[in-house]
Amino acid sequence: MGGDCKLKLLIMGPPGAGKGTQAEVLIKELNITHVSTGDMFRAAIKEGTEMGKKAKEYMDAGKLVPDEVVVGMVKERLSQPDCSQGFLLDGFPRTLPQADALSITLDQMGVVLDGVINIDVAREKLMARLTGRRVCKGCGASYHVIFNPPATESKCNSCGGELYQRDDDNEATVSNRLDVYEAQTQPLIDYYKGKGLLFNIDGDQDINKVLADILAVLKR
Ligand code: ADP
Ligand code: AMP
Repeated sequence: MGGDCKLKLLIMGPPGAGKGTQAEVLIKELNITHVSTGDMFRAAIKEGTEMGKKAKEYMDAGKLVPDEVVVGMVKERLSQPDCSQGFLLDGFPRTLPQADALSITLDQMGVVLDGVINIDVAREKLMARLTGRRVCKGCGASYHVIFNPPATESKCNSCGGELYQRDDDNEATVSNRLDVYEAQTQPLIDYYKGKGLLFNIDGDQDINKVLADILAVLKR
């Protein structure tokens, strides 16, 4: 699957599995476009758009934004020119209707998905990862106060931006997000396994080892 082809990939896994952390490096290695629905919603909130205001209510409650809103946003994003160089979809799809809508959209675009990377981490590890997460205000890079601290406290290694804690990374909201993941998103693992697209990766390893494992399966 490797080489210089324009890979079209999904990265899946529960909240806190390390999708964003891996995506940041993978998109540079593979020269493809990162499409993160969570990042898109956070950008809309920052801009103060109507869609952002609506999405924030769901996000702060640890619930999913309604399918029709997300699907419309992703469709529009995938039609932009930078996605024709290949893309890594992160945080989408999260429900079976979203997965079906994606399949139809890609068919209409004449695009074939190359693979789905599923980062597997046990639920009991995720609370500590998420409550200790710090994110760069400038570039969105993900850090952890213990597991992946920045070189200088509260400053992003790559852009020098200030680090902050996401509103939804508190214990109560994380707990809801993990329940929602298990009920609505986990079934997609079998959905993509059935399509022969799934690559399972052990996410409970050092960040660099997880990356090496992902690159190894993509080269196969
Ligand atoms: P996701 O995008 O899947 O929600 P992130 O990539 O933001 O998750 O990672 C969640 C938190 O866990 C961050 O604080 C990140 O620094 C940390 N993290 C990511 N990968 C690992 C890993 N392999 N081991 C320990 N901590 C990790
Ligand atoms: P993330 O940055 O991927 O952790 O997403 C943060 C929040 O954004 C989620 O808890 C949801 O409220 C919302 N969100 C992101 N992606 C989706 C999606 N595909 N479907 C529904 N809601 C989403």
